[in-house]
Amino acid sequence: MSKSHFNAAHFQSVEAAREYLEALRWGSERVCPHCGTVNESFPTRKPGVYRCRAKECRKDFSVTTKSVMESSHIKLNVWLQAFYLMASSKKGVSSHQLHRALGVTYKTAWFLSHRIREAMREGGLMPPMGGGGGVVEVDETYIGRLKGQPVRRGGSTHKNTVLTLVERGGSARSFHIDTATIAQVAPIIRENISRESRLMTDESNIYPEVGADFAGHDAVNHSEKQYVRYWKSYR
Ligand SMILES: [Zn+2]
Repeated sequence: MSKSHFNAAHFQSVEAAREYLEALRWGSERVCPHCGTVNESFPTRKPGVYRCRAKECRKDFSVTTKSVMESSHIKLNVWLQAFYLMASSKKGVSSHQLHRALGVTYKTAWFLSHRIREAMREGGLMPPMGGGGGVVEVDETYIGRLKGQPVRRGGSTHKNTVLTLVERGGSARSFHIDTATIAQVAPIIRENISRESRLMTDESNIYPEVGADFAGHDAVNHSEKQYVRYWKSYR
């Protein structure tokens, strides 16, 4: 493995790596990984650390919060080098190869390869939410106004639709969608939530089909504030 792969800035500097990951994870809209609130955070004095403005939250986070890179002292650009090597090798990369290619200690290389293998098995940088019978709430919210649309009162067609997944006692993720349809919502739910979870949604007809894939699905009647059991639990 040659080091010439690593000429790009995000492999060379921690700052560039952070910007690269922020663009990848959030694009232009930063999402609080604790409560799922979109675009309501501000940078703190610590580089790469943001604070959520949501009243009930106010927590700090960074681009690595709730990801496999969380709470490690390994530099972000080294994480990206390791991801690159492991994702581009068909035969797999041993901890020893990683140790030599990245110039890190064997112990660090071992840690990197285990965390990254875990992430790749689970399908991404973010491990699935829920699991073990945990409850994940799914919510559609409408924020702001779409570019080029006139200001109108009422209705939601002129607004941005955000799908937010909130794990009880855990993390939250938000996704921009064009419209809340089965085609747009179901893949996000399947990709981000462990099948061993119970889904909690509203009574919209977009959820029963995808809900059947999970350990359980409860639908909340928002108007009556009542929980209505749609699907029998499988266990
Ligand atoms: Zn928050």
